[in-house]
Amino acid sequence: LLPVGAVAGAVLIWAILFLSRHQMALPQAIRAALRAKQFFLVYQPIVDLETGRWTGAEALIRWRRPNGEVISPEVFMPAAEESGLIHDVTERLFQLAARDARDLFRDFPDFHISLNVSARDIHDAGIVERLVALKQQMHAGDGNLFVEITERGLTRPEQAISIIHALRESGIPVAVDDFGTGYSSLSYLESFDLDYLKIDKFFVDCIDSEDEAVTGKVLTHIIELARSLDLRMIAEGVETTHQRDQLRRYGVQFAQGWLYAKPLRMAELRERLGEEAG
Ligand code: C2E
Ligand code: CA
Ligand code: CA
Ligand code: CA
Repeated sequence: LLPVGAVAGAVLIWAILFLSRHQMALPQAIRAALRAKQFFLVYQPIVDLETGRWTGAEALIRWRRPNGEVISPEVFMPAAEESGLIHDVTERLFQLAARDARDLFRDFPDFHISLNVSARDIHDAGIVERLVALKQQMHAGDGNLFVEITERGLTRPEQAISIIHALRESGIPVAVDDFGTGYSSLSYLESFDLDYLKIDKFFVDCIDSEDEAVTGKVLTHIIELARSLDLRMIAEGVETTHQRDQLRRYGVQFAQGWLYAKPLRMAELRERLGEEAG
């Protein structure tokens, strides 16, 4: 019989070896996946809390392996960013979104598609031109294409300020994503020409937790800030009716989460939008 400690140690060593091997192979696998066109997009509806209507959808990238397994961006995005492959992944995201959105805004002119652009992409020379070209490819009017950038994309403020300003001038509203989870101070937001603030799932989860009183204060603070900066708010990861009711009470206008819909393929999104309209 092996002592328990040795078994645990062996398992740990095996896990570390497995993970490091997996990590090392990941950039190569991503490159191959790009070539083999294994990425696709799903779209999670964004809901107007007042009317219950679907006003837009966030595009979320997925990787389908040849064995049918679907891999979450949380697994491969960090490796894509570290290896610099993120630029190619983002370019693929744009191509997929352009293809998926064909005729979408002709049929649903008030709808919007929101794309996640990584902190590394936002400082690329030419990112504004690329997004403006994408807007045209998508036959999107002003306000049909949104961009989400995380707080990390707001570092190097002088550059970020002018990029966000240029996007907004081009009819591409910008949302700050995962707000409150990073290190920037709240007042920092004032410098940017942002349109939307996405309230991270972390704060939404807190609504149902035991320290609701404490986090309620943080949430109230974020909401007051957003309001004072004239930012519209989108709460993400809403799973319960209690969360929905609290968010409405706080005056949050938009929400996204499994309570409303899981991410859908474009065909299904259109079908549901058609049913809603008709
Ligand atoms: P995110 O931008 O914060 O996206 C929201 C994540 O929460 C999505 O996970 C979504 O599926 C999930 N979610 C939505 N509603 C609920 C809910 O009610 N409950 C729970 N438990 N989860 C919910 P996903 O699709 O795995 O994406 C993870 C992250 O990967 C995203 O976080 C985003 O930062 C990144 N990502 C996804 N697609 C892209 C992309 O095309 N480009 C870039 N740069 N990043 C992306
Ligand atoms: Ca996002
Ligand atoms: Ca988010
Ligand atoms: Ca999040």
